[in-house]
This record gives sequence, C-alpha cells and structure tokens, in this order.
Amino acid sequence: MDTNNYSLKNVRLETGFEYEEGEVVHTRTELFIVQIANGKVAAILPNDPKAKAIDAKGRLMLPAFRDMHIHLDKTFYGGPWQARRKKNRTVRDMIAMEQQIIPEMLKTSTYRAEKLIELLQTNGSHFARSHVNIEPTSGLNSLKNLQKALENRKDSFGAELVAFPQHGLYYTPSTELMREAAKMDIDFIGGLDPHSIDGNIERSIDFTIDLALEFNKGIDIHLHEGGDTGLRTVEYLVERVKAQPALKGKTFLSHCFVLAKLEKNKMDALADSMAQAGVGIVSTIPFGGIMPIPTLYKYGVTVYTGNDSIIDHWNTFGSGSVLQKANLMAQLYGYVTEFDLSRALKLATGNILPLNDKGGRQWPVAGDKADLVFLDASCSAEAVSRISPVQSLIHEGKIVFSK
Ligand SMILES: [Zn+2]
Repeated sequence: MDTNNYSLKNVRLETGFEYEEGEVVHTRTELFIVQIANGKVAAILPNDPKAKAIDAKGRLMLPAFRDMHIHLDKTFYGGPWQARRKKNRTVRDMIAMEQQIIPEMLKTSTYRAEKLIELLQTNGSHFARSHVNIEPTSGLNSLKNLQKALENRKDSFGAELVAFPQHGLYYTPSTELMREAAKMDIDFIGGLDPHSIDGNIERSIDFTIDLALEFNKGIDIHLHEGGDTGLRTVEYLVERVKAQPALKGKTFLSHCFVLAKLEKNKMDALADSMAQAGVGIVSTIPFGGIMPIPTLYKYGVTVYTGNDSIIDHWNTFGSGSVLQKANLMAQLYGYVTEFDLSRALKLATGNILPLNDKGGRQWPVAGDKADLVFLDASCSAEAVSRISPVQSLIHEGKIVFSK
C-alpha cells in the first residue's frame, strides 16, 4: 500500500439532523469512500463496498482529538503507581517537592513522555499542547528530553509546547531561563499565579507579554488563585492583550478557577471582554468548582480541554481521553439532547464539528488535514454520551493504529 495515497471505504460520516416538532431527534449518517493523499483528505466519494480500499467497517469518522493541556515532560505514567501525598497542599508545597524529585524524574522523562503519547493516541488524540517545566532545578533539560520524545514520535503525533515557569518567574529566579527557552522552538510563553507565587501581577504579566511579543509566541498562563487577586490577574491580562493584536487568539488562561466563583453580571461582562480580546480558557472541566463553560461559549470565548495530569504528584485521575472530558462537560451542564451532545464533541476535537448547528456537513471537506479518528459509534452524540471505543487513528494521513 502507498501510505501517502490510499482510500478508505465504508466510512461513516454525519450528513444531517432529523427533526421532530422542531427538535433534533436523530443524526443521519451515510457510508462513503474517503481518499487520502499527502496527509490530506483528497476527496469524499459515494461508497462502494467492492472498492479496492481499506475497510473502515462502518465506523464513525471524526476529527482526531486534541489534548490542549498536559505535562508530557513530568509524569509517573510508565513507572510504578504512586498517589498524591497529603502534605502537598499548596502550589508552593508542590514547588518544594518538585525541587526534590525532578532530578530523578529527568532520568526517565523521555521514555515516559513517549508512553504518555501512546496513551493519548490510544484514546484518539493525535495532538497535544504540552507545558514543559522551565525552572532552575530542570534548567532546559525537561524541554530537551521532551523534544527528544517528540522527535521520536513525530510521524504519528503533533505537539505545541508551552515554556512553563512552574516554580515562578521570580519566586525562584527563572526569567533568564525563560528567555533561553523562548529561543528553543517553543510555541507559547507560560506563567503561574502572578500574585500568589510571584507577588506582583503587573511585573509577572508584563514580563510574559514582552517575551511573547519579542519572540512572536502565544501565551498560556496557569491561574489557580481565586479571589480579588485572581480576578485582577484576568482583567489585567485581558486589558493588556486588547492593546496587542499580535496576541489576539493566541493567549490562554489555563484553569482560571476564579471564574467559577464570579456572580453572573460580572461573569457576563468578563466573558464578553475575553472574547473581544481573543483570550481563551483551557479547562480540565473540574467539579470542585464548576466553571462557567456555557457562559464562555455564549460569548464566543475559545474553550479547550486537556487531561493535565495523568498520573503524577499533582493528581492521578487523568484517563488520557478528551472524549471523556466532553462527556463530563455534557453531564455537568445538562447537555443531554441529541443536539447538545453533538455540540459537546467540540471540546474533544479542538472546536471542529462534522455538522454545523443547522445540520449541514462542514467536515471533512477536500483539503482538510487527514487527522482522523474512528469510533464504534453511530454519531457524535452517541460518541460523547457513551465515550465510545476508539478503533483507529490517522495522523497527517499516516495510520497510527487500527484495531
Ligand atoms: Zn497544568
């Protein structure tokens, strides 16, 4: 078989909605032949069961999934089981712990990153946005080790990297290291709790913005802190990004738990402001504090998800599946109808949906990247609701695995 140029038959694609009394009650699908050439979808043709082509066996084809917040560089996955320790409560406790364990973790971090990539692929993800520790204990070694792992997997997995000052920019002196990292093929300048870790919202955010602008990168800041200082951090970032068109659509706040506690009017105004500034949210869909995801969607804020921790010193609950995150979102916010479940899929795919809100097919079209996942499901709504099993994955036209 020519792996750059081949056809798939019996591919199930969504073709429209069926309505009863104005409500979407069913998603229509049909079987197709999908031609792949040079990493792209070359054509979508009527099905022919007798065609000389790879048999997709009637499985549902969806846009391959994207995990938009994970730490591929520091994980216990691939090693022995270990739960979180009780004494590690605050982010500062975790920094102290990391200073102890990172030298040992770095010895296996390339291998473990590759095992973690395999887990993500098994769960249908072909792409990740990975944060990577940039701090005095790791130096640039966490980044170099991860870049090795990504190089080894580059034919089957894509990634963008966030240089992440996990131990603070100033709490442990990391600004020079961040400058070095910015020169090393990363995509985003990260950040961490500017007030509670570094003690100065403006100084920390200004440094991050200046570095991003100087090296033409995006921004993705971990914001755990709530209260007035958490809110002021969001507002200050939004205000500064509004004045920098180069950062629009490329700036994100990860977690941003402070939004879970805002009163409705304040939240509406902030979501509107974030949408205008092009500042997005990356959320693991926590249920400790319920994030206002429906409000963010309503105002047009970009929302992504990720597993964050799979098994590490922070948390051991990551499954590796972002489809599970879409399912969790549907349960938390009451997205229970055929239509709402079908829309919830966008959390797993990085906001690509096969059907538009009117039921018109918008994906795939010829020329789309051949990043494809195949599931045992009859439609997107079922896939989200049942967390349907992933049967194969294609990354840039290359078949990663097929069961
Ligand atoms: Zn994280």
